[in-house]
Amino acid sequence: MRTTLADIAPRDRFRRIVALTGAGISAAAGLGTFRGAGGLWTAHPDVEAAMHASGLPHNLPALWDVWGGIRRRAILAGPSPAHEALARADVQVITQNVDGLHQDAGSEGVLELHGSAARAVCLNRDCWHRTEVDLSGETEPGHLPQCPRCGGPLRPDVVLFGEPLDPGVWQASEEAVLDADLVLAVGTSSFVTPAKWLVPIARQSGAVCVNVNVDDSVPGLDPFHAHVLGDCQDTLPTWLSGG
Ligand code: ZN
Repeated sequence: MRTTLADIAPRDRFRRIVALTGAGISAAAGLGTFRGAGGLWTAHPDVEAAMHASGLPHNLPALWDVWGGIRRRAILAGPSPAHEALARADVQVITQNVDGLHQDAGSEGVLELHGSAARAVCLNRDCWHRTEVDLSGETEPGHLPQCPRCGGPLRPDVVLFGEPLDPGVWQASEEAVLDADLVLAVGTSSFVTPAKWLVPIARQSGAVCVNVNVDDSVPGLDPFHAHVLGDCQDTLPTWLSGG
């Protein structure tokens, strides 16, 4: 019989659980990956090039097209069973995703390493107003959201190529994994940053580190104690129910 997550890490044996999530948890919501076969950047390298911070403000239409499109698809699909399981399990979520689905599932205090497509920031340097954006309705083609405070152009509050991660979010993520007794990596590969950095930190400070993924091909040094092979949409709800 295949080893389950509950065999390796029973929910009730751990007090401070951190989940590090990536694109794989949102695949069920119809949100694809970015790299690898069929990934957005792989299929459209020109779109990837337009996601660079150096292109501001001229690339705003492309930015809203991509990130606004992702948020719209997320709203239509809603959170997946895996998002809901993490919210019910009261797990601290650190995510690479910008789709907002962990919050939609009810998770609180989500640490969004790459920002959020559900928010926008004013480009006016005297303003810097940060706001939720309503992308639930249809908009005119070419329509760009404007700052409710100063009327300036808003950009998606996502970390673009050429931009650093938010140091406050990164520090909070490090503190969360240092304090954790169980770290689950869900739908993310262990060899890309930030999982590559955070999982060894967690392991060194004594956390049990488990990778939950459909794919267990692990190049190089493997930072995990265990791998649970399978779809997180089955694995996480089953784990929560103790099975
Ligand atoms: Zn403004």
